[in-house]
Amino acid sequence: MYKPKILVVEDDPAITNLIRTTLDTQEYQYHTAKNGAEAITDAVSYNPDVIILDLGLPDMDGVEIIRKVRGWSSVPIIIVSARSEDQDKVEALDAGADDYLTKPFSIDEFLARLRVALRRSRAGEAAAPSQSAVYQNGRLSIDYAGGCAYMDGKEIHLTPIEYKLLCVLAKNTGKVLTHNYILKEVWGTALTADIPSLRVFMATLRKKIETDPSSPKYIQTHIGVGYRMLRQ
Ligand code: CA
Repeated sequence: MYKPKILVVEDDPAITNLIRTTLDTQEYQYHTAKNGAEAITDAVSYNPDVIILDLGLPDMDGVEIIRKVRGWSSVPIIIVSARSEDQDKVEALDAGADDYLTKPFSIDEFLARLRVALRRSRAGEAAAPSQSAVYQNGRLSIDYAGGCAYMDGKEIHLTPIEYKLLCVLAKNTGKVLTHNYILKEVWGTALTADIPSLRVFMATLRKKIETDPSSPKYIQTHIGVGYRMLRQ
């Protein structure tokens, strides 16, 4: 499967590390540049699907980078900047940026904006999951239209929450989903206090789909992060 390529342009090592750690939890490739000159070279040679750009760089203003990149490319550009004035946002957006996030930013919001940008990029189009009505993964299958899940063709009796949980994981097979992401998708809220109940539902779901729930093959735990559905 194609992994979208993200170019991260940022001179603050702490923010770069935060973005790296965040991207490592997803199925993305990335490359980092710490100044404007590197950014422009990498925008050509790395051929990214999305550029994450800081405005305050040591050698040139981010807005200048946007103008230069826009000279030959329509790659989505997301600004991540400490500048929160409307004028700065307007200038960056007018220069050709697609989106703007103000530091400090939430990881979930950052990833959501990134997904939007990727959907717009050519990689997003190529990597978009097919709108198949039936999900098949090893012995497990889900009939999305019918709202049923099967193991070896035999229906599994799931509660509505367990079914939703299974669908969120299945629709993101191969990706590590954070607790917050899952809580938001299944319950519509992302309260850290709800993580223990998520664990309880995950345990009951595992009992129904895993041959040995103590060593799960389908749903993998990422301690302190979340869960991932593995392709069998
Ligand atoms: Ca900076």
